[in-house]
Order: sequence, then C-alpha cells, then structure tokens
Amino acid sequence: MQNIMPGTLITVTAPSGAGKTTLVRELSQREPDLRLSVSYTTRPPREGEEDGREYHFIETRRFLEMRDTNGFIEWAEVHGSYYGTSRDWLSGQLGEGRDTMLEIDWQGARQVREAFPDSVSVFVLPPSLSELENRLRGRGTDSEGTIARRLQAALGEMRHVQEFAYVIINDRLPNAVDELAAIVRAARLRYPNQYKRHPQYFSFLV
Ligand code: 5GP
Repeated sequence: MQNIMPGTLITVTAPSGAGKTTLVRELSQREPDLRLSVSYTTRPPREGEEDGREYHFIETRRFLEMRDTNGFIEWAEVHGSYYGTSRDWLSGQLGEGRDTMLEIDWQGARQVREAFPDSVSVFVLPPSLSELENRLRGRGTDSEGTIARRLQAALGEMRHVQEFAYVIINDRLPNAVDELAAIVRAARLRYPNQYKRHPQYFSFLV
C-alpha cells in the first residue's frame, strides 16, 4: 500500500509534559497544508475538548469493533484508555498527496514505522528531568503520588527515544518549531517521497 501513497507521513511522540501539543499546533499554523490526524479514543473528554476536534470520543465497544475490523492503522492502550488512528482517513489523506502528522505514543509510532517504512518518526524530549517534573506538577493541585506516577510514565515513554529517527529537545518553543519544520521539509525531500510525488522528473530512470 505504501508504494502508491504520495503524501509524507510524520509521527510525533513525546511524554506528557514535553510540550508536544503546543509544538504541533504552532507548526500547523506555519504549515497550513500539513494535516493533523484526529485520533479515536475511549478516554472521556477533558474540559474544553470537543468531539471531532481533539479526538473522536467513542465507547469501548465501538473502539473494539473498529479494531477487530481492521479500522485502525495503529492503536494502543495508554493509561487505561484506547487510542487509534483511522486507516480510511489516513489512506485518504496520503492518497491525495497530503502531508500528514500523527501525534501518537511510542507503541503506535512503532506500528506506523512497520506499516510505512517511508514515514518519519520524531521524538520530543523535555529539556531536563527537573523541568519535566515542574511541568507535570501543573497547577499544584495534584498529590505527590500522582506526580510521581506521571513522572514514571513519562520516563517509560522516554526510554524508547532511540527507536526514533529524529529527536527535538523542547527547550525554547520557537527553536523547537523551527526544528520540526526542518524535519518536515527534509522528509518531503526524501527520494521515495519526491519520486512518488513528482514522477515526471524521474522519467530518465525507466
Ligand atoms: P492524551 O489522552 O493526554 O491526549 O494522550 C495520551 C497519550 O496518547 C499521548 O501520548 C498521545 O500521544 C497518545 N495518543 C493520542 N492519540 C493516539 C493514537 O491515535 N494512537 C496512539 N498510539 N497514541 C495516541
């Protein structure tokens, strides 16, 4: 399937507290042609989240139905909820030549790398463990136990960093956005993507 898809596929993975969501949001303002996937999840919406915007919020039964009918290109269980990326949506975007970004965890990134060897995987690291802890403390209303659990979960995610093609250290947001934009640009220029997108320039190969 990947051979007929001219769009560039990029995954972005980070522990919570690394600032990934802001980073991706800033990038998509700068790169309006980049499509951001809206995942399916069984976790309940947080305050301010809208169905169809941050996520498609669905019941577990429906998620499992979609999963068992091959509806997801990748899926994972994260913190006791299911998350997945729609196969139909992604194939549609890539087939139309859209560059597409998925914000997914390391388990999903691994599945995408296997299904789409030409995809590009990016990991976002926080600048330091103490800064990560500060960010995870948030508004200071959570117990020490909750914060320790979040920190452990973040470290668990970070231990997969070496599986990724690129790493961004999110110290200063504008730098990090520049770096992510550079990765997107480089990914678009990779041979398989150029070949699929502009076959007319490669007629000398046949
Ligand atoms: P949150 O519930 O805080 O929005 O996300 C929790 C975790 O699930 C984050 O690491 C996020 O990247 C990941 N996630 C969100 N959507 C997907 C998805 O479609 N697939 C996978 N594998 N992970 C996802």
